[in-house]
Amino acid sequence: MNTNLTGTVVAVEANFYRVRLDVELAKACGHSQLLCVRRARLKKIGQQVYVGDRVTVEEPDWQGLRGAIAHVELRYNLLDRPPIANVDRVLLVFALTDPELDPFQLSRFLVNIAASGLPAIICLNKCDLISDEQAIYWLDRLHTWGYDAMAISTYMGKGIELLKDKIAQGVTIISGPSGVGKSSLINLLIPGSEIRVGSVSQRVGLGRHTTRHVELFELSDRGFLADSPGFTQPTLTCEPANLAKCFPEAQRLLITESCQFYDCWHLDEPGCVVRGDWERYTHYCQFLGEVETHSSKKSASSAPETSLKSKAIAGGKVQQEPKLLKKRHRRQSRRFEHQNLDALYQEDDL
Ligand code: GDP
Ligand code: ZN
Repeated sequence: MNTNLTGTVVAVEANFYRVRLDVELAKACGHSQLLCVRRARLKKIGQQVYVGDRVTVEEPDWQGLRGAIAHVELRYNLLDRPPIANVDRVLLVFALTDPELDPFQLSRFLVNIAASGLPAIICLNKCDLISDEQAIYWLDRLHTWGYDAMAISTYMGKGIELLKDKIAQGVTIISGPSGVGKSSLINLLIPGSEIRVGSVSQRVGLGRHTTRHVELFELSDRGFLADSPGFTQPTLTCEPANLAKCFPEAQRLLITESCQFYDCWHLDEPGCVVRGDWERYTHYCQFLGEVETHSSKKSASSAPETSLKSKAIAGGKVQQEPKLLKKRHRRQSRRFEHQNLDALYQEDDL
């Protein structure tokens, strides 16, 4: 066959890559997956291959179902812990009850997802355990935060078809605290994926819950689902200056108005348009304390410029520049001790 054999890397095992061939090709060849090595040329140029990468395979051996990856397409993002390329969205699962829905914990997940630049689909599971009114209360509450969530039940199959439609294309990674029904949901979405429900150490050997291993499961002809503990890390990954942008409520305020100081942290500065009586403002303040500590620890171990540079390319993630940068020349800076921020602005001014 002369056509390019293109596909998606669905698993990396030692030095082998499992490649799911694109659906039309798979139909034409009669095989859907090939176990591939990486061409020596790619190794020589240091070209890594990650789960989620779009690749071209050469020299297929249809008997042994083997091949060699000859080319890796430019990836549009790369998440770390575990490394996974070309992610389109995060499916965040929380339970409405059992365990009780903790708004602060939910906020923490949402901030981490927002910091990654990926869109979120939020599913509130176990709606069979509560009344419709209680479910609506939570959906409305999240709506005021700026999020559309859906109430689902893996027991009743409620909301599952709609969810399938939403994630039918591209790569979705599932996230959420334990006990909320993620494994049950994966089993519903992908029958036969053999993820055991309710067990802590799952899939011994493959280590589903280690941060290094990741595998894409096929949802449909064009959709994949990965179970990733990455966003489950309790540490907030956001930079202090970007935190407000991880709250849609604050973002909305900053679209129409600007704070007096371009580097306003929205605490007690005069002329702040973000500080206010929106529900999650207290979360913002608490998270800011956390990310500040985290970020000052980081900058203490490296020169300010270096830490900023690496931040801009970290993990190849979509980088969101602070909107307030645009107006920096028109407004004054507090010029206080946050060297990192000042270095960023100066660098940007060049
Ligand atoms: P995970 O830790 O997020 O993967 O959660 P599991 O899928 O292991 O589910 C945790 C517990 O919640 C199990 O006992 C499931 O049977 C239960 N569970 C999952 N989905 C539902 C649901 O829709 N309704 C109810 N009532 N229980 C559920
Ligand atoms: Zn402000």
